[in-house]
Amino acid sequence: MFEQLGLIGCGLMGGSFALALKRAGLVKRVVGYSKSPSTTERARQMGVIDVEAPSALLAVSGADLVLLAVPVSATEATFKAIRPLLTRDMLIMDVGSTKREVVDAARRVLRDHLGGFVPCHPVAGKELSGVEHADPDLYSGRQVVLTPIERTQVSHLNRATQLWEALGCKVVQMSPEAHDAAFAAVSHLPHMIAFALVNGIIGQPQGKDFLSLAGPGFRDFTRIAASDPKMWRDVLLANRQELLAQSEQFRNALLAMEAMIAGGDAEALEAAIQRASHTRAHWRMGAKR
Ligand code: NAP
Repeated sequence: MFEQLGLIGCGLMGGSFALALKRAGLVKRVVGYSKSPSTTERARQMGVIDVEAPSALLAVSGADLVLLAVPVSATEATFKAIRPLLTRDMLIMDVGSTKREVVDAARRVLRDHLGGFVPCHPVAGKELSGVEHADPDLYSGRQVVLTPIERTQVSHLNRATQLWEALGCKVVQMSPEAHDAAFAAVSHLPHMIAFALVNGIIGQPQGKDFLSLAGPGFRDFTRIAASDPKMWRDVLLANRQELLAQSEQFRNALLAMEAMIAGGDAEALEAAIQRASHTRAHWRMGAKR
């Protein structure tokens, strides 16, 4: 049980975390801050937070739990803003989709308070951003990846693990580097491809007509192309090295399939589709539901 959550970034992820924590009876009070005062006000009106803070610094004042739920590019500035009021007992977490940049920023800024920071990536979310879409069920049944570093204190790591588990999450641990390599493949590249696919269609003179004919397959494949542009700009740039390596793998696979099609190699084409179809049919999301 926590006395006070200092929430910085009252959007989809932060708002959902506050609602889930409140519903589980795990926090007494939530003090929130977002860049636009109108967002913070809306979060209070919706009951996501109890008190509006006028700055990130004041949001952490008196908190025993701090959550950064801001775009990854805002992480370092946020660490700098809150550093003067951090205490050794505070559990500090983030929810950023990339981890190496976040951890590097923490190393540069948090110094004596680095031990209290547990980097987190809940593998949850949706293509809709903003506090209006906050949902207390967003995290339940999902995986949360924790990427502790050598200075992370075991007591804080254990508290973070217990907290996410109490919200119904399955917690896994890996290094920030391993995290970024894996999520380049299964999250960042699929988003990039979805954006490129839609742009490739609408860049054609008949693109709009083609789109009007698209069905459920297109809808399912491109759902994530409707994601927030600024958030995904940040994520793709923050993990550029791993993403470009995965993009090369994808290009090779695409070129191989193009060659099979151009050469009329039905056997090779069927085998390639079979491999993908079998893998996808047996894939289960790594969580409880
Ligand atoms: P969001 O709904 O747009 O919320 C972000 C919030 O951060 C907004 O309330 C925004 O305030 C606030 N903010 C932006 N810059 C800030 C700053 N410098 N100081 C304080 N607040 C600031 O986005 P989100 O989907 O919750 O994403 C938040 C984080 O979660 C990102 O790091 C993202 O990588 C990660 N994440 C997202 C998903 C997903 O599916 N969406 C999944 C996993 C992880 P204003 O409203 O005032 O602009």
